[in-house]
Amino acid sequence: MITSNTTPEHHAIVGAGLVGSLLGLMLAQRGYKVTIYDRRSDPRNSKALEGRSINLALSDRGWKALEKAGVADRVRKIALPIKGRRIHDHSGNETFQLYGVGDQCIYSVSRSGLNLILVEAAEENPSLEVKFDHVSTGYEIADKGDVSGVKLYFKNRNTILHDRIFGADGVFSVIRENMTHTNRFDYSQEYLPHGYKEIPMSPNTDGGFRMSEDGLHIWPRGQFMLMALPNPGGSFTCTLFAPYEGEESFENIKSDEDVHAFFNRHFPDAIPHLPTLIQDWNTNPVSSLCCVKCHPWNINSRVVIIGDAAHAIVPFFGQGMNSGFEDCTILSSLIDEAVPTSEADWKSLFEEYTRLRKPAGDAILNLALHNYIVMRDKTADPKFLLQKRIEARISAAHRDRWKPLYTLVTFSHIPYAEALAKGEVQQAVMNEIMATPNISEKWESDEIVERAIKLLDDYDSGISTIKNPASLLSTDA
Ligand SMILES: Cc1cc2nc3c(=O)[nH]c(=O)nc-3n(C[C@H](O)[C@H](O)[C@H](O)COP(=O)(O)OP(=O)(O)OC[C@H]3O[C@@H](n4cnc5c(N)ncnc54)[C@H](O)[C@@H]3O)c2cc1C
Repeated sequence: MITSNTTPEHHAIVGAGLVGSLLGLMLAQRGYKVTIYDRRSDPRNSKALEGRSINLALSDRGWKALEKAGVADRVRKIALPIKGRRIHDHSGNETFQLYGVGDQCIYSVSRSGLNLILVEAAEENPSLEVKFDHVSTGYEIADKGDVSGVKLYFKNRNTILHDRIFGADGVFSVIRENMTHTNRFDYSQEYLPHGYKEIPMSPNTDGGFRMSEDGLHIWPRGQFMLMALPNPGGSFTCTLFAPYEGEESFENIKSDEDVHAFFNRHFPDAIPHLPTLIQDWNTNPVSSLCCVKCHPWNINSRVVIIGDAAHAIVPFFGQGMNSGFEDCTILSSLIDEAVPTSEADWKSLFEEYTRLRKPAGDAILNLALHNYIVMRDKTADPKFLLQKRIEARISAAHRDRWKPLYTLVTFSHIPYAEALAKGEVQQAVMNEIMATPNISEKWESDEIVERAIKLLDDYDSGISTIKNPASLLSTDA
């Protein structure tokens, strides 16, 4: 339910990226006056939005937020359905692994196209304004004397007083940086030893896709992988994820010959589809992957962070934006329920938001780190593939008891922490099942399905021989 305030507060959102613009739209729909500030210039005056990937995978949690804000139909027009993974082995053979059942799929959307839809939808609301070319440098809570609110500082611009600041300024958030100066604020930032480089794959000469467009293409090679996600219009965005250092790493691909040799060695079937590989390799940078954790996500009633500013994760589950959109769903629902009218109301609302979302942020980070191992390594492992086939049989026979981890994360709305916990128990059960003598011969038997369910039931009722769930971050998972 959308409620209207009789005395609208004036909120600031720092960051008109994916999460900030969606949140702005939702706050304006609830009757608040909102100004969104972004350091970038208006993307409508430049060719493309600055961003960290050209396209993104949008899934159920993201769609739910877009539906809630009333913009899902507009986004559907630029969304391309992706039904599963297309795995390329060393010999150029391709296998297809469906993501879900029935019509379950994820969607590829252009980052700049999606951001534009959200900014334009937000600006249609008369109580919302987006100000580009505004670089925020931090805030100061000003609840003394006659002044009440929070001052937002800008580079080379006047300071502006707002009722509240929502920091949606991404992984290197200045709002979060300012929060770290608060007593007992926890903060950690960690870079992965791996980076990534994007390589565009243009459409065929006839304008069509060079590979099947219904899948996320993966060339899993152990410590590194190439990935390709189709874009509406016939192109793909390929991304090489690899270590910065080591034998097969970015530091060892220096010359044009090194690039050719590396691709010939590991992805020979991709080379004919990448006619401008060398040029693209030399043009595009190697970008880093950074994880951020912090707590709490609010300072009293005045400042709160959302999206990557609160929980930057690695991109391997395609959930960074989706989890940020889920933050918007939860925060707007809390506002609908509480209808806050005082600073005390806002403080307890923001505290509840932190309480609900912090465990979700931590869990999706762990899930995403685990999925990197799955994508670059396990998708080519016969034992893992057999486990997936067995899981599909268990899930088909007992849909209410067993949902694969990918389904729990991507096609459900249960809290990420719950998905992680269920995934770990199911992995422990699968470890027992995979240890069954001659499993590769009897995996299709009903006995295996029923044993898995019995192990799960025993675990749930506390009588299991499985004492600890399996850590999904173990490389044996
Ligand atoms: C390679 C890669 C692939 C990804 N793929 C997926 C995927 O498939 N699915 C998915 O769900 N997620 C994916 N993600 C994650 C996703 O990109 C992020 O989670 C998402 O962009 C976060 O949105 P945000 O609005 O919080 O931050 P951002 O998108 O980073 O937006 C932050 C905004 O704040 C502005 N800003 C920053 N500092 C200031 C300042 N000081 N003053 C004013 N404005 C400021 C910036 O200009 C920007 O507009 C991927 C990430 C990467 C790196």
